[in-house]
Amino acid sequence: MITRKEENEARQWAWETARNAGMVLRNEEYDQIEVADFGLSRLREIGAQILTLEANDWVSIKVLILSPWQLEPQHRHPPSAVEQYPGKTEVLRGQWGQLYHYWEGEPSPHPKARPADQDQPYLAVWNETVLGPGSQLVIPPNSWHWFQAGPEGAVVWTFSSKVTDAADQWTDPRIVRETQFTD
Ligand code: ZN
Repeated sequence: MITRKEENEARQWAWETARNAGMVLRNEEYDQIEVADFGLSRLREIGAQILTLEANDWVSIKVLILSPWQLEPQHRHPPSAVEQYPGKTEVLRGQWGQLYHYWEGEPSPHPKARPADQDQPYLAVWNETVLGPGSQLVIPPNSWHWFQAGPEGAVVWTFSSKVTDAADQWTDPRIVRETQFTD
């Protein structure tokens, strides 16, 4: 849970950071920036600011704006048998700052991420890709991944097939995807 004040400050910071990163945004898009703490009530450490530019039954375009060292916990986008949907394919493209991204594969010997001790048990995949401006990564459906911004924060595009936030699976059972407010 977060306060409305925390939400406002995070949104303001995200807006300025995205614009300073060269993104051209319309004023009405300010209010569309979602501030997510993933239910852990530690927004500065675990969370994301997410601007959704489009989300329909086929595609989604979002911008992730992460504050310094902010971490999005390990998750995957599973298939849906009912909808005959293989699960979300996600393209990440760096715009500004650095994002340390982890997925399945050979664990990197000296990862740059610095998760808090209490989060380590829920981070099981450690194959690192450092995403800087212009770097691009395609995350296949149903594969575990997580990421953390570097010391300046990060602005990252995400282009994907249909978003299935409610169906996403998280390693950490404490996670609540919908942001709740204390006030
Ligand atoms: Zn994802």
